[in-house]
Amino acid sequence: MKPFAYHQPDRIPDAAKLLTSIEDSKLLAGGMTLIPTLKQRLASPPALVDLSRLGDLKGITNDGGTITIGAMTPHAMVAASKLVQTKIPGLAALASMIGDPAVRIRGTIGGSIANNDPSADYPAGVLGLGATVVTSTREIAADGFFRGLFETALEPGEIIAAIRFPVPLRAGYAKFKAPASRYALVGVFVAKFADGLRVAVTGAGSGVFRVPPMEEALSRNFDPSAIAAIRIDTDGLTSDIHAEADYRAHLVTVMAKRAVDAALS
Ligand SMILES: Cc1cc2nc3c(=O)[nH]c(=O)nc-3n(C[C@H](O)[C@H](O)[C@H](O)COP(=O)(O)OP(=O)(O)OC[C@H]3O[C@@H](n4cnc5c(N)ncnc54)[C@H](O)[C@@H]3O)c2cc1C
Repeated sequence: MKPFAYHQPDRIPDAAKLLTSIEDSKLLAGGMTLIPTLKQRLASPPALVDLSRLGDLKGITNDGGTITIGAMTPHAMVAASKLVQTKIPGLAALASMIGDPAVRIRGTIGGSIANNDPSADYPAGVLGLGATVVTSTREIAADGFFRGLFETALEPGEIIAAIRFPVPLRAGYAKFKAPASRYALVGVFVAKFADGLRVAVTGAGSGVFRVPPMEEALSRNFDPSAIAAIRIDTDGLTSDIHAEADYRAHLVTVMAKRAVDAALS
């Protein structure tokens, strides 16, 4: 790890100012992804801006039809939240499946979606629920937030403050874990709303994506049998040491059926 300056501001505007004034500086949330990256010298920012003193960024609130989760809320807190378990059980289940206890205690929802790892779980929940990402400067709809491999719509100096989730009628998540890392080889989030239905897939390609044929089929009949015969195209799916594209395509159907089952249970 190369030496770096360390800042711990206690207001978002101060954090944003540091971030924009120190070229190549990085925000530090749970450090679960960033610290190993620094240790391996894959990045050597001149300064880290630690968000841990920004108390406003941590916590879960219920605003009527929406649940708002602060960016610095760790996965374990989301998994254990009675509010999330009651209102969006599929999201609490997703958080409980991330990594191991140490990762869930340190890692945060904001860090996860800012990083946008193609196998991360939260992007499926955020896109699947059609959430809104609230940043230090604006609000970004999930459909426009994830831009592919480790890329998001965040501008330099922009800080995720919270994620606002509309409460669905039903939602469920299922993932096939890579055995060593526990990241999603394929994970599928399904959410049913009074006015629509969304299916979001993580792990299968270079970024999270929706599956319109499954959304249409499930809108007509919210039952696993409705999508049993739908197989997604392997074009654009990942083939790597863990699985071929063809196998991932197969897993998308299997996980989508399990996600519907979970939503119905
Ligand atoms: C062993 C292991 C297993 C894991 N397994 C899984 C898994 O199964 N599923 C899964 O989804 N993830 C998994 N992860 C990743 C984990 O969920 C991390 O918590 C997550 O990727 C990063 O969150 P963090 O809070 O640690 O962010 P950090 O590592 O601190 O930051 C990550 C990146 O996001 C930026 N960032 C952080 N917060 C903000 C913000 N508020 N606004 C803008 N940018 C920000 C940082 O600058 C950095 O570039 C695993 C990690 C490890 C080490």
